[in-house]
Amino acid sequence: MRKQLFFLSAFLLVSILVLRFTTRDEAIPEPASSSEDQLEDITQVRSTFGFDEQNYTILHDTIRQNQFVGDILSQYLDFPSIDRLLTNSKDHFDPRYIRVGRPYHVVSRKDSTSSGVAFIYEHDPIRYTVLHLEDSLYASTGEKEIETREAMAEGIIESSLYLTLTDQGLSQNLALEMADIYAWSIDFYRLQKGDRFKVLYEEQFIEDEFIGIGEVKACVFTHKDLEFRAYAYNQNGKRDYFDEEGEGLRKAFLKSPLKFGRMTSGYSNRRFHPVQRRFKAHRGTDYAAPRGTPILATGDGEVIKSSYTRNNGNFVKIRHNSTYTTQYLHMSKRAVERGQQVVQGEVIGYVGSTGLATGPHVCYRFWKNGKQVDHRREEFPSSDPILPENMDSFQQVRDSLDQQLSLGPEVVALIP
Ligand SMILES: [Zn+2]
Repeated sequence: MRKQLFFLSAFLLVSILVLRFTTRDEAIPEPASSSEDQLEDITQVRSTFGFDEQNYTILHDTIRQNQFVGDILSQYLDFPSIDRLLTNSKDHFDPRYIRVGRPYHVVSRKDSTSSGVAFIYEHDPIRYTVLHLEDSLYASTGEKEIETREAMAEGIIESSLYLTLTDQGLSQNLALEMADIYAWSIDFYRLQKGDRFKVLYEEQFIEDEFIGIGEVKACVFTHKDLEFRAYAYNQNGKRDYFDEEGEGLRKAFLKSPLKFGRMTSGYSNRRFHPVQRRFKAHRGTDYAAPRGTPILATGDGEVIKSSYTRNNGNFVKIRHNSTYTTQYLHMSKRAVERGQQVVQGEVIGYVGSTGLATGPHVCYRFWKNGKQVDHRREEFPSSDPILPENMDSFQQVRDSLDQQLSLGPEVVALIP
């Protein structure tokens, strides 16, 4: 996490001005609503989890320190009923894991009995459980609807100044998204004063409360006076980013550093180490192959390490761009030097068992934004360009996104 934040700061440190604005109304074509829908809107009353305040009394509160669900329920149910309710509900709700500060709601009848109808606990901003306090005493779990709105942000890079971004969550995630989209075309560690960007993306809301950013739909990044355009497009079921000509913006890595080889051990946060004979994390993927089998660079990049350590044996580390780095361990022999540029598929060394290894294999390690990840779980692009049969449709999407990007800003918030 610290490394990831360090990575982020490299980008955030240079962001001086970010304007955020929602796109103009006319930019988002709303489906025409029928008169029936409108009628429903007018008659709809405020409702909480399906209980409207016209027919029920609804108490809204948050869980306090040392507060038990049983204490809250005891105002509406006797103890045998509470016991039965919690037993019936155990697949949905564990009263031991309620968290201080989380919102809850109690629904009761408006008549003279004021009897309890439901207890609702919100696990997180999206998920909630309803304990039904009447009749059969059961529980149900639901999710709130996430509303997606389009938004635009614009930024100018000012390399010498630092200003704290007040809307950190939004800005950090947007920065990471953009760094990923442009990983192979712009080095985010070498942004220059005057570089700028404009990004069209989605914001997610629940009941008008901002919860996070959704997908980036289009972006134009001006780096060293060159414009880099990115458009999201769903090609044959796979969503990816393309430039204005329809070329894939992101490149795929080779699936494995060996042409032929057998995966013998996957990425795990806890596995039994065969040499050290104890449980420890294995943040890499092992591929076994005969000693001397060529090991290939899984992507273009610069060799930043080519050396020997007691644990790694002979190893090579490649920095592909500001987002991705890979490392290859236990080589019998290294074939590249530090500082050397390599291309995807180039031989960088040979399989061996130097360092902490039982037999000949390569341990392949993968970093994204300074954090080790399981490369087999990462979603990589196909790196195919837009296919001829999809070109017309892509161009339509591109032109409509361009039109939205060109709209003048309607400033809603100024960050900072
Ligand atoms: Zn390994």
